[in-house]
Amino acid sequence: MSKIRMTKPLVEMDGDEMTRILWGMIKDELLNPFVDLKTEYYDLGLEYRNKTNDSITVEAAEAIKKYGVGVKCATITPNAARVKEYNLKEMWKSPNGTIRAILDGTVFRAPIIIDSIKPYVKTWQEPITIARHAYGDVYRDVEMKVEEKGKVELVFTNESGQETRELIHNFDGNGVVLGMHNLDKSIESFARSCFNFAVDTKQDLWFASKDTISKKYDHTFKDIFQDIFDKEYKEKFEELNIEYFYTLIDDAIARVIKSKGGYIWACKNYDGDVMSDMVATAFGSLAMMTSVLVSPEGYYEYEAAHGTVQRHYYKHIAGKETSTNSIATIFAWSGALRKRGELDNLNELVEFANKLEEASIKTINEGYMTKDLALLSDLESITVTNSYDFIKQIRIRLEDFYKNK
Ligand code: NAP
Ligand code: MG
Repeated sequence: MSKIRMTKPLVEMDGDEMTRILWGMIKDELLNPFVDLKTEYYDLGLEYRNKTNDSITVEAAEAIKKYGVGVKCATITPNAARVKEYNLKEMWKSPNGTIRAILDGTVFRAPIIIDSIKPYVKTWQEPITIARHAYGDVYRDVEMKVEEKGKVELVFTNESGQETRELIHNFDGNGVVLGMHNLDKSIESFARSCFNFAVDTKQDLWFASKDTISKKYDHTFKDIFQDIFDKEYKEKFEELNIEYFYTLIDDAIARVIKSKGGYIWACKNYDGDVMSDMVATAFGSLAMMTSVLVSPEGYYEYEAAHGTVQRHYYKHIAGKETSTNSIATIFAWSGALRKRGELDNLNELVEFANKLEEASIKTINEGYMTKDLALLSDLESITVTNSYDFIKQIRIRLEDFYKNK
């Protein structure tokens, strides 16, 4: 076959450790043989981030703004141990945090569902996509321990020095307090990213908070979502026959557990942190979670939700065999290629992305899988493959499709 053509480039962000190894295999075996891959390459591996004083991460984020679509490999977020291991000049910030701040985006995480791996919640048949607001609340709070009698107040001072006060509590013994904030602008971006993604993927959008108790804080989230929906998205949703629906967070939990899936669940920062781990676990495995960062302007960055799989990497460099699951990284590529194809009107590229995903799922359903999946699968006959052979098996099925076409 002649290779599938691309017209505009994807922003390709390479990463670290085991996922960097998988990245190379995926390109060699599943992409380059089929697609005349056009990418603008940014090496976000920790060594190169250190060499460029992390300016490479900023350049990559700017490139996503230029081209609209990026695909990212998992990267190390340095801690003290990594500073030593890589002899770093500084404890560089999380690349995901840097990119998210530049694109002002929201992260959507969705599980990849496979027939032979059943979710723990029996009613779930379709993916539940979690959208997590990534600014403020308890993640940027200020806290105090109260250790003697006294009162704690909220004080707002405007620019001319005028004060507004609210009593929080008159303490007559020890206790704790916290102050937190959010910004209308950030909530608005979050809301628009969620509505855009719902339209994009033609799924219902749920949002929940505790506005009955938090009559100003959470109520502001509710009002901003409703206002933007009514003014900017209502008609579009009606056209697509999808729904925006707000409810209390505790009611949402009950509905989620009883639902069959197939919608986007927008969560405030803390709820999203907790619920995304719950949903990932209940669907099976972190290695089967995809993640896409969507900006309110409509820029997209695709990646796997898991990290660099450090433990497997150390085995790999010690010359031992690994069985690392590449599915989420493959789906990051297929997601980005599909989006590129849609934006550039390249049907063949969209078809390739779909076939790459089908071939991956078919491989697992036919019993070839990595160790992590073998532990979850209810198939009777399973062949546990190493990291490379798993990708090879996918290639065989992808080639079959193009041979039989
Ligand atoms: P991790 O890479 O997600 O791996 C944790 C464990 O989960 C692995 O040891 C493995 O379990 C299992 N696992 C995850 N992905 C797997 C896959 N594809 N196939 C098979 N098993 C998989 O988390 P971590 O080891 O805590 O973090 C390693 C590095 O990743 C850290 O430096 C962190 O900063 C970074 N990180 C990056 C991102 C990102 O770039 N988006 C996200 C999270 C973490 P077993 O060992 O039991 O096989
Ligand atoms: Mg968490």
